[in-house]
Amino acid sequence: MVNNSKIKKRFCPLCSKSLNNNTLRYESKPWKLVKCECSFVYMPEVPIYERMKKEFSWERNFSDEEVISTKKRVRRYIKGFLKRDKLKSLLYRFCNEGEILDIGCGSGAKFNNISNKYIPYGIDISEESAREANEVFKKRGGEAVCAPSTEVLDRFGENKFSGAILRAYLEHEHDPFEVLKNLKYTLKNDAFAIIKVPNYGSINRKIRGNKWCGFRFPDHVNQFTPKTLLTMVSNANYEVVKFNFFDYLPTSDNMWMVIKPKS
Ligand SMILES: [Zn+2]
Repeated sequence: MVNNSKIKKRFCPLCSKSLNNNTLRYESKPWKLVKCECSFVYMPEVPIYERMKKEFSWERNFSDEEVISTKKRVRRYIKGFLKRDKLKSLLYRFCNEGEILDIGCGSGAKFNNISNKYIPYGIDISEESAREANEVFKKRGGEAVCAPSTEVLDRFGENKFSGAILRAYLEHEHDPFEVLKNLKYTLKNDAFAIIKVPNYGSINRKIRGNKWCGFRFPDHVNQFTPKTLLTMVSNANYEVVKFNFFDYLPTSDNMWMVIKPKS
């Protein structure tokens, strides 16, 4: 049973309305997904941040999964390796050396194979992850803080970062549009932000239903399609500089995108 005082109701993160929502068949009681008339898919009721800090930390949800087979473990390792390399290649290609902000930084492990010329800063809602990341980032001249992103972004100051990483983050964020808007303030004029989110438009979602890898109740509170992701970044005044053709396709479970603030 979920205590109502620990639930936050929210409007559509894309168009700010909450009328004419259609409840979708995907759910994990008491959590549900709706599709707004603007076509954005989201959870209208989400756990409050305070609760997410401990009970629903992103890291913990990974470790709470049941014991997995060796085959699955190997597949996950390879996938993790490829993911890191993709991030690294995009970071090196687009972002100048300097301070990089990783929103939803987790334990900070993704910086392990990234050059020391990139100084990591991070934000994470999980206390445990932010503490771990802070230890790693401090040694490299940066830091990590535990807080909702909307509350701390401006604390870093104007024109600070050469780049931002939002990998496996926007689907967790209660106010993704606010974060994108506020992020611009901390980015330098020539900075880029690298995004990765699950693709709700994927064929796998239609086939696998509730078992699709992009669903994680109640952690994944937003579900993006190529179209709604493009609309949100454009409304937040960013220009898309890279969005692969393959990421538009329904064969893709995830979408990578590189954006930069419009001048
Ligand atoms: Zn909407």
